[in-house]
This record gives sequence, structure tokens and C-alpha cells, in this order.
Amino acid sequence: MNKADSERMAGILQSMGYTEAEEEIKADLVLYNTCTIRDNAEQKVYSYLGRQAKRKKNNPHLKLIIAGCVAQQEGERLLRRVPEIDLVMGPQHANRLETLLTQVDNGQQVVATEDHQILEDLTTARRDSKICAWVNVIYGCNERCTYCVVPSVRGKEQSRIPESIHSEIEGLASRGYKEITLLGQNIDAYGRDLPGITKEGRRTNTLTDLLHYIHNIKGVERIRFATSHPRYFSSRLIDACAQLEKVCEHFHIPFQSGNNEILKAMGRGYTIEKYKKIIARIRDLIPNASISGDAIVAFPGESEAQFKDTLKIIDELQFDQVNTAAYSPRPNTPASNWPNQLPEEIKVKRLKEINHLVELTARKRNTRYQGLIEEVLVEGINPKDKTQLMGRTRGNRLTFFPRKNLQNGSYNPGELIKVKITEVRPFSLSGITIN
Ligand code: SF4
Repeated sequence: MNKADSERMAGILQSMGYTEAEEEIKADLVLYNTCTIRDNAEQKVYSYLGRQAKRKKNNPHLKLIIAGCVAQQEGERLLRRVPEIDLVMGPQHANRLETLLTQVDNGQQVVATEDHQILEDLTTARRDSKICAWVNVIYGCNERCTYCVVPSVRGKEQSRIPESIHSEIEGLASRGYKEITLLGQNIDAYGRDLPGITKEGRRTNTLTDLLHYIHNIKGVERIRFATSHPRYFSSRLIDACAQLEKVCEHFHIPFQSGNNEILKAMGRGYTIEKYKKIIARIRDLIPNASISGDAIVAFPGESEAQFKDTLKIIDELQFDQVNTAAYSPRPNTPASNWPNQLPEEIKVKRLKEINHLVELTARKRNTRYQGLIEEVLVEGINPKDKTQLMGRTRGNRLTFFPRKNLQNGSYNPGELIKVKITEVRPFSLSGITIN
């Protein structure tokens, strides 16, 4: 989500005539788009800022901007801590960058963190990839997971209307983009703030409806979406994924814990049994689906046995990948005030243990690709080995293969090619091309 915001803000700067500086330390304008999901991400911001603030003392024309979730969370406090900052802007203000910069040019020091109706984005994002694009479909989150800072920094849910999303994707397709990832903090909430209901009382603007609506856009070959929430993940959505050819067989569904008491304390609104049913239905309809999740260890009060339940679920469900994190208390979240916080050494120990299991499971799970022929979307050169190209399978596996094809020509980014998998590692694959 942050990366998508960065690309849009870079697009605005570009449309204002800014060009990219060779190095951050030589730039006339520096914008840090920040993340506050964990404490160490937040601390990094302060070290970068310190360096730029020093530079500003000798170069008063330098414009210093802090955007994103740390900006939203800290607001004016950031100005007290680093008075050299010109503009503090929360994520809901990303599309207003040009207006806010005009105020800075008029000599103001600006803080834009008030709740804001996100404007339909008219600027063209400066996207890092020419093949795969992120498309925001819903901003904000109305959930109240007790560990999570997102609702307080990204505000209430705001869905974009389907027609705007459709025309953005059509525009991307006409510029050669082949893969679209629909984005939302809780993408299953898409459309619940939009009008539209059938006679039977079903909403007509759901994520499932959106997938059907955008599916026939010419030129787009693959569609993904993230991030799913087990509480709202519907059977209708799974059916649509099985039925719609362009929707990739990859599901990222965070489970967070394998223990129901911890899930309740986290305020997640589902049980592990419900989660398992979702996975069973996916595997029933789409046997080859790749499934990833997120897990938090050492949540306040988590006992050793409850932690073991999380390990058990990873072993039982055989995930392709699990993003793991040790619980990090975040400002303005209920769980950060609870007295049953766990000590650092337990966090470190549990994180190490879960990561070890995740790696073993991913390696085992990846062996199913050995010898298979997979469709890979060519993204570009492997930065670590220039003789190779890289791309992703439909299951989102990063795959490396030789740059040249049999006719000794080179593949082009954006091509869909067939790769026979000859080597599997826990989180990536290698192979030879067969077309
Ligand atoms: S659904 Fe996701 S973004 Fe929303 S509060 Fe829960 S963890 Fe945070």
C-alpha cells in the first residue's frame, strides 16, 4: 500500500516538473513515505531525517517532506522534534501533494493530518514496473484489531467506484501492463460503503463483483488482490477465483495465530476452524493454489502452548509462505496498554522458531514444482546474475531462467513464457525455458 502511495506521489512530482536526483543527499526535495507498522520501521525515519535536517542548515532551499503513517501518527510532534521539516502529510493526503507543496512554496510549514475524503486520483503514478501495477480499490480500514495501528493512521474505509477502477486498469493495459494487483488494507471490505443491493439483499459492489467487472479488460493477463481478511472471505469469492481465468491461483490470507483465545484477544473476528474451512474450500476448487499468510508471535499473554498452536497450523496447512513478525506495541492501540506484555527474549526465541518452520514448510511445499512447466510473466533481468531473467509464476513464485531463448533471442519483459522448473529453493525457483 505504501509503495502504491509512493508511486502516486512520485507521479505528482514528475507532473510538476521534478526529476529524480542521483542521490538522496543531492536532492532539492526529499520526501520520505513512512511506515509505522512496527517500531523499527518508525525508528529508521528519525535517523534519515536527522541527516537531512543537518543538510538543510546549509541549504535552506531544501524541501523536506514526511508523508505516510508516521506523519499521520506524530503530526505536529514531528515539527517539534525536527523543526526543519516543511510538510507533514498523512496517507489520506497523498493525492493533494501538489496543493500542499504550493502552500510550502508560499512560506508555510504545513501539517496535513486531518480526516480527508480521498480524491479520485487524476495524476499518473510513476510506477517502478512497466509490467505489474498496483491499483488501490479501497483506502483505510474499519476493523479494530487490537494490535494494529492502521485504522488510526489510514482512517475509515473509502472504496473507489468500480467505473474509476475499470478506467484506470484500461489505461494501464493500453500502456502495456499485464498484471494488476488490486489493493486494500482489508480488500474483502471493498464496496461496503458504496450503494448497490439486489432484491435478495445481496450487495452488488463486492470484491467478487469487481473481479467479474474488470476481468475482460483487454491486454491484462493476470489479476491478483491483497490483503484478504478471513472474517469476510466469502465462498462466492473463492468460486469466482476458480472460474475467472485471469485471477491467479495465489491467496494471501493472514491468520495471525493458530489459537482461538489469542485470535479473540486480537479482535480478529474468526476462529481457526473458520480459517481452515476457507483453505479447505480453496484447495477443493483450486488444488494447485498457492497460499500464504501472516502470523504474529509473542502477542501479549501468549503462552507457550498457544504459540505451539500457531506452529501446528503452519505444519497442518502447509503454507507456501508465511510473513512472520514478533508483536510490536504500537501507539494508540489497545494491546499496547495491556500489562501482560512478553519479554524481548521470548519474542526473539519464538520468531526464530517459527521462521525455521516456515522455511522448512516452504521448501517442502516448493518441491511440488520440481519438473513442472509453469507459466512465467517476464519482469526483467535478475540483478544478481545478468545472464538470467526473472519473473513470477501464477502462484507468485519468483522464478529465474536463462536470458536467451532457443533461437538465441532474448525474452522481453511482459512476455508470458513457459519455464520447466529444475531447481527449487524455499522462496524461489529456477528453470529452463521451453518456448
Ligand atoms: S484488518 Fe488489517 S489493517 Fe485492519 S485493523 Fe486488522 S490488521 Fe489492521
